[in-house]
Amino acid sequence: MTIATFIPVTSKLDPKDAVYDHMILAGEGWLHDLLPGQVLRIVDMEGNQAVDTLFYSTEDPSDHYSAIRTITGQENLYLTAGSVLLAESGRGLLQITADTCGRHDTIGGACSAQSNTVRYSHDTLPMHNCRDTFMLMLSGRSEFTKRDLAPNVNFFMNVPVTPEGKLAFADGISGPGRYVELTSLASVTVLISNCPQLNNPCNAYNPTPARVLIWNKEGGDSHV
Ligand SMILES: [Zn+2]
Repeated sequence: MTIATFIPVTSKLDPKDAVYDHMILAGEGWLHDLLPGQVLRIVDMEGNQAVDTLFYSTEDPSDHYSAIRTITGQENLYLTAGSVLLAESGRGLLQITADTCGRHDTIGGACSAQSNTVRYSHDTLPMHNCRDTFMLMLSGRSEFTKRDLAPNVNFFMNVPVTPEGKLAFADGISGPGRYVELTSLASVTVLISNCPQLNNPCNAYNPTPARVLIWNKEGGDSHV
């Protein structure tokens, strides 16, 4: 897949009509439930940010997003408009219905204290990382434990697979204001860590805010 030929898929939804609008600062987490048919937009406010995200069936939180099922289901390593994000059970959780970035990673995983020490240096061990944020957010809900952490989506992050089959953490391809929009196909719990990483070019060594907006299903009720 070459992203040079990418044609943005834009959304007609107006932020003025959103029922929810929140800024996730760099390094912060976000946990929120979506109703079937609601639309979630994630905006890369300053560009080249990595928004580490996991999805769960709200009705059965043990049924989480599956990177492997999603990749094999669409026969593509990268996520973009049209991708259906599948759970371990095979059920569709959400579909990407707009994308002005062009490529999102679901192979690289979330940064952790352990991966930081392997990738960078041992003195990065105490640095804030996405796994810590995920755990902090999940600890607020009794239905979740650390068993529920799974391979995630890194929205706006560029992790190309080389011809040798290796992963490269490359400069970001996103820019200020680019967004991805997902339509919920079920009741879905969304977990985000807006990556605090300071050692990786994926976010230009500069973590920045991400904005999340939600619209109700057209003709749906006003419940958020
Ligand atoms: Zn991270």
